[in-house]
Amino acid sequence: MTTPTPRPGIMEITPYVPGKSGPADDRPVIKLSSNESALGPSPKAVEAAKKAAENMVRYPDGGATVLREAIGAHHGLDPARIVCGAGSDELLDMIPRAYAGSGDEVLYSQFGFAMYPIATRAAGATPVAAPESDYHTDVDAMLEHVCERTKIVFLANPNNPTGSYISTDEVTRLREGLPDDVLLVVDSAYAEFVDRDDYSDGRDLVDAHDNTVMTRTFSKVYALAGLRIGWLYGPPAIVDVLNRIRGPFNVSNVAMAAAVAALADTDHVAKALEHNRLWLPRLTQTLRGLGLTVHPSVVNFLLVQFPKGPEQAKAAETYLAERRIFVRNLVAYGLPDCLRINLGLDNEMAALTDALGAFMETP
Ligand code: PMP
Repeated sequence: MTTPTPRPGIMEITPYVPGKSGPADDRPVIKLSSNESALGPSPKAVEAAKKAAENMVRYPDGGATVLREAIGAHHGLDPARIVCGAGSDELLDMIPRAYAGSGDEVLYSQFGFAMYPIATRAAGATPVAAPESDYHTDVDAMLEHVCERTKIVFLANPNNPTGSYISTDEVTRLREGLPDDVLLVVDSAYAEFVDRDDYSDGRDLVDAHDNTVMTRTFSKVYALAGLRIGWLYGPPAIVDVLNRIRGPFNVSNVAMAAAVAALADTDHVAKALEHNRLWLPRLTQTLRGLGLTVHPSVVNFLLVQFPKGPEQAKAAETYLAERRIFVRNLVAYGLPDCLRINLGLDNEMAALTDALGAFMETP
């Protein structure tokens, strides 16, 4: 028997490791491993999804017209320049398929989001990681790694799993240092959480150039991760290319209805951001008080480094899991001495800090 052979590069893909959800029994768990907003989705979005589900017999609108118009109105963007996807993952996956192939390189930063090398290899291209500086994207290092084979640069800003960001000026410097025929993808999945004057989500660069796109998601602050919905804003020619290769009905009617309702519920988003603003410094300080290194974060999760290294991080993950608290280990990211922990509800944060406090006291 011979099995079909996949294209070169496919077997070099290390499959994506999702954040753990815990055992599938009825007992409650505290899930702090995938960065969904602590408050969960807007009740109005849940209601809209249930109503839309009644019409699941019908194909959705393949052009996602209503959702693109709602996103456009909400963000002040032209709906014709928006493409929706089944999560921003789908859009990130489509980009190398359209713009890179065998012999081409796709660049990202050392601890950049795990989907970038996966999407790159799936397209037959070669991923290249530029070193970071103090857990931040290093624009100079990125530019040093550009060569004539470079076709795409992925920048997660802020980045997952580091929680760090680079300023608008730095992103502009990156764009200006790249050749014009290199596509810059500014992945702003966590943009809503960032509360800094020198940050922007990348839309200005999209408007100013023909070679830059921005991706966004409804999975994080809107907490619709299970419905899989994201979007891209780009120049008309790139939008045209992506519309040619995407599945004709890639976003479900349930997801679109929920996303439209979620966008409209600005009160819910404001509450989610308020909760985040409260807990980000609070959890950072508490964990630092336990002797852990907590890297500065502008988002809804923390990169937590264990002073005794990888074994201690692994033991902490196990200790928390035994107490039904699930956090993200970062072995696949090359950060084995760290865990990534997202902010949760008040009681979840109390349970986490109690458990980590007890763990750090054990000899
Ligand atoms: N970009 C970044 C930086 C992320 O952390 C994630 C989620 N882990 C995504 C994109 C993809 O999110 P989704 O596919 O749910 O939109």
